[in-house]
Amino acid sequence: MSRIRAVFHDPDGSRYGIPTFWWRGAPPGYATRRQLRAAGLRPGGQPIAAQVLWRGVGGIRTAYLYRVDLARPKRTATPAQLRAIRAALTARRTCRVCGVVRPYCIPRSLGECLDCAYPQEVAA
Ligand SMILES: [Zn+2]
Repeated sequence: MSRIRAVFHDPDGSRYGIPTFWWRGAPPGYATRRQLRAAGLRPGGQPIAAQVLWRGVGGIRTAYLYRVDLARPKRTATPAQLRAIRAALTARRTCRVCGVVRPYCIPRSLGECLDCAYPQEVAA
């Protein structure tokens, strides 16, 4: 784990007050507000559960995460709709180069997962 990742890795929230992950390190079960919306969900009044920090354009960027299990449906979805949503989300997390389902959405700008896009960092 590199120094940057270690700085942003605080799953207990002892350093940042809330659980903090580097941006590829967030465990499943958390989603950003945008990801929730894409899944037809909303935070449902829950507080921010965790955050992801990463070094991006213009400095350190933050994304707030909500717990998927506490999220409420934005509107009533039929089981078929829910299945379609899950399939779509899985598709967005599936790398078309290596075929691995990642815990993050494949960046559209890359069109492949980060391990495929930056293979030199895998061994780091
Ligand atoms: Zn890949």
